[in-house]
Amino acid sequence: MKSTRTAIFRRLEALYARMGQGYEAAARGTGFTCSGCADNCCTSYFQHHTYAEWLYFFKGLEALPAPRREEYMDRARACVRQTQEALLRGERPAVMCPVNDDGLCGMYAHRLMICRLHGVPHVLAGRDGVPQAYPGCHRFPAPAEAGAAPAPLDRTPLYRDLARIEMDLLGARLRALPRVNLTLAEMMVQGSPRLTP
Ligand code: SF4
Repeated sequence: MKSTRTAIFRRLEALYARMGQGYEAAARGTGFTCSGCADNCCTSYFQHHTYAEWLYFFKGLEALPAPRREEYMDRARACVRQTQEALLRGERPAVMCPVNDDGLCGMYAHRLMICRLHGVPHVLAGRDGVPQAYPGCHRFPAPAEAGAAPAPLDRTPLYRDLARIEMDLLGARLRALPRVNLTLAEMMVQGSPRLTP
């Protein structure tokens, strides 16, 4: 089934809202916060995997005033260059995301899934369906008493629903198009994905 972009974006927004609720529930009562952290997750070397999120990010980017968008694009080109240089040196890149403005996300409403989920402990079912637990950020507070920690975020249904949105966006093109395996900066430099009919 192929869905219209408007319907896809609506579903993605609803899924992003669920991610936000899940994140809040997993952090509730722990006092976990990113403020004052010397590390910045926005320098992490993340690759993203869906055309749906890529398109949605560009919807937000294209709505920005031109000077701001051009500044982000300049930063994205520099970011891609610095990332490639780090990889050539055999290092894991740690380059600030091109849309981070002095520690704040300049594309908050259109940021990608991993930006929304990173930090809290989570579980994720592997291919065999068995859930694996992941601890989240090293700053995530240990519970004061045993059993007091909120349940970890279950990423499994969120990933599954994103995969469904991707399938509905692409329909029969799913097999023909190359798999997305790009950093956000690389997506920006490539431009909004052209999905042939
Ligand atoms: S899109 Fe926003 S939250 Fe995600 S890495 Fe960039 S600045 Fe950080």
